[in-house]
Amino acid sequence: MFGNRPIPDEILQTFDWQEQQAVQNEYQYVARLAAGDCGLDELLGQFLSHAVRLFGASAGAIWLRAPGQAKPAIRVERSGQVCWGDMKPQREVLVRHAFARTRAFLVETGGTPDCRTSARNPFDGYLLLGPIDSQGDRVGAFELLLGTQSPRQVGNCPPHAIIDWLDYLSAGLRREIEQRFLGNLAPLQPALVNLAATQAEIEGYKRAIAVSLEVTLDSYAGANFGSLSNNRTFTKKVQELLDANGLRVACPECGSPAILRCQPAGNAKSGVFLYDHYLEGGRTFHGGPTTFPKLRLVSKPPRRTSPQEGLLRRAADN
Ligand SMILES: [Zn+2]
Repeated sequence: MFGNRPIPDEILQTFDWQEQQAVQNEYQYVARLAAGDCGLDELLGQFLSHAVRLFGASAGAIWLRAPGQAKPAIRVERSGQVCWGDMKPQREVLVRHAFARTRAFLVETGGTPDCRTSARNPFDGYLLLGPIDSQGDRVGAFELLLGTQSPRQVGNCPPHAIIDWLDYLSAGLRREIEQRFLGNLAPLQPALVNLAATQAEIEGYKRAIAVSLEVTLDSYAGANFGSLSNNRTFTKKVQELLDANGLRVACPECGSPAILRCQPAGNAKSGVFLYDHYLEGGRTFHGGPTTFPKLRLVSKPPRRTSPQEGLLRRAADN
C-alpha cells in the first residue's frame, strides 16, 4: 500500500531538480489510483502509462500469473513506437526469470540477467524487469523498455536507483493488485471447510427438529382418535410433517425407515397402525397396534432408484 509513503529522498534526489515536482505528481496520482476502487485493468493500465513516463520508458507491459497457472500472460501493454513483433518467446523467458527473482533488475541490449539464463534482451534498449510479490508468491512482473541511453535516461539515475524505484512502486502496488486479481479467486480448501461447517450446523438443527417432533408425538403414544377416519387423518398429518423435515419412523420390528399408515384390519374398527417399507423382498408392512405407537424418528433414506435411473444419475455425476 502506498498510504502516505512519500518517495524516499535517495530516490527523488536521483532526478534533476526540475523533474522532481513532475515525478512527485505522477507518484501521487498512482498512489491515489491504487487507494481508490477502480478495477484491476484500469489500475494496471493507468499505472503502466504513468510508469512509462516516470521511467522515461518507450514501452512496457504488466504480466500476471494466477495461482496454478504455469505461464504468465500479458495483462496490459503499452507499445509506443516499439515493435514487439516476434520477440514474445524471449520476453517470456526474461519475464519468467523476473517471477523467480525477489528484486527488479536491468538487462542491457543483448545481455542476460545472469549466467543461469540463456535468454537475452532482444531489444535495442535497456530492459527493466521486476517481480510483483504477494507474500512470497509472485503474482506478476513489470517489464519496461528503457531508452538506449539508459540507465541515465531517467534523470541521472544510476542503475541501482532505477531498480530501487521500481521495487518501491511494486511494493506499493502489490496489495492493491493482489486484492483485485486474487480477490475473486476463492481458495477451494477453506471453501470446502466452510461448507462442511454449515452442513454440521444444519445437522444440528435437524436433530433439534426430530427431538421436538418426538416429544410432541410421544404425548399421543397409546392414543386412539375414535374412528378409522380420525386415526387416518392424524397419521397422515404426522407423516406429512415428518416427510417435510426429511424424517421417517423406524420400524420397531426390523429397524428399517418406514412410513406410518393406518389401515382397516379384521375386527379393529378404528384400524391398525402399520409400518410401510420396502425390504429386500419388496413392499412390506410390519406392526399392527390398534393405538398410536411410540415412534422413533430416523432420517429419510435416499430415494430408491431403478437400475436405469442409477446409470443416468452416475453419468450426470461424472
Ligand atoms: Zn419392519
